[in-house]
Amino acid sequence: MQTVLFHETIFGPIHSRRLGASLGINLSPRDGKVCSFDCLYCEAGYNAQGPGTTGLPPRAEVKALLEAKLADMKAKGERLDAITFSGNGEPTLHPDFAGVIDDTIALRDKYFPNVKISVLNNATMAARSAVADALRKVDNNIIKLDSAVESTMRALDRPGSPTFTVEAAIAGIRQFADTGIVQTMLTRGEHDGQPVDNTTDVEIEALIDAYRQIKPRQVMLYSIDRRTPEQSLQQVPKPELQAIADRISAATGIPVTVS
Ligand code: SF4
Repeated sequence: MQTVLFHETIFGPIHSRRLGASLGINLSPRDGKVCSFDCLYCEAGYNAQGPGTTGLPPRAEVKALLEAKLADMKAKGERLDAITFSGNGEPTLHPDFAGVIDDTIALRDKYFPNVKISVLNNATMAARSAVADALRKVDNNIIKLDSAVESTMRALDRPGSPTFTVEAAIAGIRQFADTGIVQTMLTRGEHDGQPVDNTTDVEIEALIDAYRQIKPRQVMLYSIDRRTPEQSLQQVPKPELQAIADRISAATGIPVTVS
């Protein structure tokens, strides 16, 4: 079974296509996965692997580990472009997410004031005001919207809550109009004998309608890059991704990047 990628709370820096030299913060367990989605393409594997044994790292521990790493990098003159919350699950599920964000901003300002803080998240907690307020403080609030067609979103992202719908996702993300970045994974394949494809005309038109409602400052399109738990999922070729990006940009006026 494919399992989690990150075995530390602070990891890297790793080179990211989108973010440069990026120090990662994993607010999920170090030996298991905790997420409100269970995406077919999740690089950390399926939720069925379990949450592991280490639990979520306490706020004070995250702060101490991050400060030690940033101080060390600064002393060595190492380059850093970004601090990115990703890892083995959904960072906004952490009960002290807002406090961790405040600590991270303070440490960034102290050691690497020009570094951008990014949070990859899936909008399931965006209705909580403390989470939304924290997301407003970071440089890049990168929120997942893979499909605006309910059945496809449920098949591809598999939210744990039956009440989390496309409508709820759009309402949550729309709070960040003009500041948030929407990230959309495009792929096709099948799961349990059912086709899954969010690249069709119907899908792209539904996404265009959703992006128009949300009005993000940017849309990021990407496709499969590493091994996925559902192995039938295919990478969408770059020229096709670019053509979809051009179509979305022309229809919405929103800048669309492909990575
Ligand atoms: S939201 Fe992210 S961490 Fe959660 S299952 Fe999907 S890809 Fe994995």
